[in-house]
Amino acid sequence: MGKCVLIIHGGAVNTDPATIPPEKEEKLKQGLKQALMAGYEILERGGVALDAVEAAVKSMEDNPLFNAGRGGMFNINGEVETESSIMDGATLRGGAVSGLKLIKNPVSLARLVMEKCKHSFLTAEGAQEFALSQGLPLQDPNYFKTDEQRDEWLEIIQEAEAEHANKHDTVGAVALDMHGNLAMATSTGGIEGKLRGRVGDSCIFGGGGYANNEVCAVSTTGDGEIIMLAGVAHEVYALRKYKKRSITQAAREAVEVYADKLQGDRGIIALDPEGNVAIESNTNVMRCAYQVDGEEPFVAVWKEELEQHFK
Ligand code: ASP
Repeated sequence: MGKCVLIIHGGAVNTDPATIPPEKEEKLKQGLKQALMAGYEILERGGVALDAVEAAVKSMEDNPLFNAGRGGMFNINGEVETESSIMDGATLRGGAVSGLKLIKNPVSLARLVMEKCKHSFLTAEGAQEFALSQGLPLQDPNYFKTDEQRDEWLEIIQEAEAEHANKHDTVGAVALDMHGNLAMATSTGGIEGKLRGRVGDSCIFGGGGYANNEVCAVSTTGDGEIIMLAGVAHEVYALRKYKKRSITQAAREAVEVYADKLQGDRGIIALDPEGNVAIESNTNVMRCAYQVDGEEPFVAVWKEELEQHFK
């Protein structure tokens, strides 16, 4: 049996430090730790990487502090529309969903698409019909709406600032299990002030995530419009596969790929088949946590904490 490792993220963003006071930072760290434990316990018991990434992401989807599932950002019409993807590094199968308004755990629907559907990606009403056919219950749309996100939305529409809105977060996980399998999952409510029907990178394979047992598992966060165009997750894969970069170096280069033309926030978590951990961002906030077999868990909200930890 090999070692097991789980890395998760709760979003990378450049923000005024005053928007995350110490009490909020503490709550975020607790939420990250809880999600890490939910996934890591599965790996520790000999469970598979896919189950671990799904459990970790579900925990953050259920936690209103994170922008995924409940607590997702409102679109300009005041609705929460979510999306997610999951990929199995063993089989190279994946499932993705977008435009969801009634699904409690988008990551679990993405997994059902991967395992029970002849397609790899379902959207909106079709995705919700498929959820019903698989016995997943639908939620009232109000379940997803938190007061905090409602206030942010009201500010945006009152100030007619939608075009300049830049708040965003996402959650994601990558895992290596004892059997040598890698997997990734990513899930988001998208970006503040988004148009109805906007699809981000979190459900796009190669943008918001990628997994291949032989090379790496990657989940990304940041400005989806540029991450999907730069193919950030696939870039990590390609740098490792074809240029033989270490996972740390691959993540470091991918976080900058085409940054001159595609400017915006980017964050990456990545794991290689040996269980080496990479966490990179070009933002001052990178909410993340990881646990490696036999070591203490590590949790961070600020990039500074990461730099201290990895130096
Ligand atoms: N990438 C997500 C999106 O654009 C947001 C984020 O990761 O912060 O929907």
